[in-house]
Amino acid sequence: MDRPARSYTAAMAGTIMIVEDEPAVARGVQVALEREGYAVSVQPTGEDAIKNFADLAPDLVVLDVRLPGIDGFEVLRQLRRETRAPVLFLTARSDEVDKVVGLEMGADDYLVKPFSVRELVTRIKALLRRAYGELADTETGRTLRRKNLVIDLERRRVTRDGERIGLTTTEFDLLRHLAARPGRVYTRSQLLELVRDYDDALEQDERTINVHISHIRDKIEPDPALPRYIRTVRGVGYAFAED
Ligand code: CA
Repeated sequence: MDRPARSYTAAMAGTIMIVEDEPAVARGVQVALEREGYAVSVQPTGEDAIKNFADLAPDLVVLDVRLPGIDGFEVLRQLRRETRAPVLFLTARSDEVDKVVGLEMGADDYLVKPFSVRELVTRIKALLRRAYGELADTETGRTLRRKNLVIDLERRRVTRDGERIGLTTTEFDLLRHLAARPGRVYTRSQLLELVRDYDDALEQDERTINVHISHIRDKIEPDPALPRYIRTVRGVGYAFAED
């Protein structure tokens, strides 16, 4: 969906979805985030959030636990089927915090109400930096074009010569980070750090990255044995090829 109303500044800073049924809380957060240049969409129920998620394609979700209808936990469970966008929970009680932390269901951070809006803004900036790296600050377009490859950051889609390439969440994020900075060499541990939350971190070591890169090459490279997109930098790691 096109969003012509989105200002240049907002497009650079990102779009944030707030799922919150208390208008005063939602409004306070919205005003503070808009002041920072974010485009903000408030969804009063979990059902609304799920229904509108694909169209809004937010870069981050602020999600209240207690909602009318389905609760925040269920919203997150459903959203995680289609997105790895960072989610920050708003909780009202410490037993909810236990659940957020204990479930390890994919929330990236949480704040307990009542919270300081300034603190929330700080946390959101940190989450966006972590999730999107330097893209969050510098990438003005939402699409990366590299040779025959088109990486649509908003829809998380990759095409080569117009043909859709199916990548896993981890593969997409590795490719996106590499392609954002052609020529920049990333060590395996840096790349692992970028994706480590996505899989079972305990099982991962740096060899995991080699496996992911190999899978990405099988999918994007015309000849995976002679990669033209992702170069191996011997003894160091990987870099996306410069044009
Ligand atoms: Ca609530």
